Amino acid sequence: MGFTCGIIGLPNVGKSTIFNALTSAKAAAANFPFCTIEPNTGAVPVPDERLEKLSTIAKSEKIVPTQVTFVDIAGLIKGASKGEGLGNQFLGHIRSVDAVAHVVRVFADPDVVHVDGRVNPVSDIETIDTELMLSDLDALAKKKERLEKLVKSQDKDAKAEYDLISKIEAILSDGKPARGFTLPDGDVNSNLLATIKAALLTAKPTMFVANVDEADLKHVPNPTGPNLNGTGHQLDKIAAHAAKVGASVVVICGKIESEIAELDASERAVYLADLGLTHSGLDRMAVAGYKLLDLLTFFTVGPKETHAWTVTNGATGPQAAGKIHTDFERGYIRAEVMSYLDYVSLGGEAKAREAGKLRTEGKEYIMKDGDIVHFRFNV
Ligand code: GDP
Repeated sequence: MGFTCGIIGLPNVGKSTIFNALTSAKAAAANFPFCTIEPNTGAVPVPDERLEKLSTIAKSEKIVPTQVTFVDIAGLIKGASKGEGLGNQFLGHIRSVDAVAHVVRVFADPDVVHVDGRVNPVSDIETIDTELMLSDLDALAKKKERLEKLVKSQDKDAKAEYDLISKIEAILSDGKPARGFTLPDGDVNSNLLATIKAALLTAKPTMFVANVDEADLKHVPNPTGPNLNGTGHQLDKIAAHAAKVGASVVVICGKIESEIAELDASERAVYLADLGLTHSGLDRMAVAGYKLLDLLTFFTVGPKETHAWTVTNGATGPQAAGKIHTDFERGYIRAEVMSYLDYVSLGGEAKAREAGKLRTEGKEYIMKDGDIVHFRFNV
């Protein structure tokens, strides 16, 4: 299981269009495992060109890519933090995902009503982010209330937490998300900060998904693009805002994605090439989500399958083994590891072994992106 990414945004910006394209694209990705877990949840493979190369060399029967699960969290509107719309219920859904894909409308279509009557993506982003910040401030105020008694009785831990919460409150009140808030190196409270942040909506890694007209699909968002007088391309304004609030930007055209989703794999490649693109917007969303979360991919490769697995950067050999099976972690003895580059340039495992490129790594080993691994274990 990869990770989960919640799709949020104002009404009528294209969330359902994008989500439906994502879930109906299964025909086009027929050789990938795909599932719709619940009506508003769909898992998509994270494209990785290395998989094809590895499976060709190993003559694998199948490829199993790593996945990202998208959750359509509809219903966020102005006032949600005060219970407007389906308010708190949806804020709760955001709390449970690993990352957020915030869809904003850039497309102009006069036939589609904009909730505020005009297309202004940065202002839309701020509307939603304000709700998230208010919800976080509310949660922090409640937490402080609970700590007050302990602080009065001179409890040192409670005091440290209370003070740290006050610092985060100041950031949020200043209109900044908790995402960017860090402590000076070596500060003993980094674990405490991580715990506090884990409960905050504005601390979630976030991408802005700009839903554009076809004509804008190839515009590369440039954060230094907008002029000081407020003019400039909408995508550049979004990029400038994203840089300020520590988010990434993905450009997508919902209308085209729904067309692409109907095509089979070969037609799809031709269609994308005609548009001058190499990957669909949904593929780019999956990759962007992956990047947000500081994850790395390792592979198990053999005649049966070439399989991509996901771990957090910094994971050890046993932790990676545990992604495959808990027994592998419990009974971990060692890992035999080759790098992706050695495997491909030398032409497979036997040759890598001959060339002395197959290393034996113990329990302390820190996994690297692209490692090809055999775990040895005993339970
Ligand atoms: P949601 O409320 O955010 O889920 O928005 P929907 O996905 O229901 O889209 C709202 C309307 O915008 C629908 O009529 C869509 O067909 C239309 N729409 C979505 N994406 C695009 C797009 O890229 N271009 C255009 N012109 N219309 C779009």
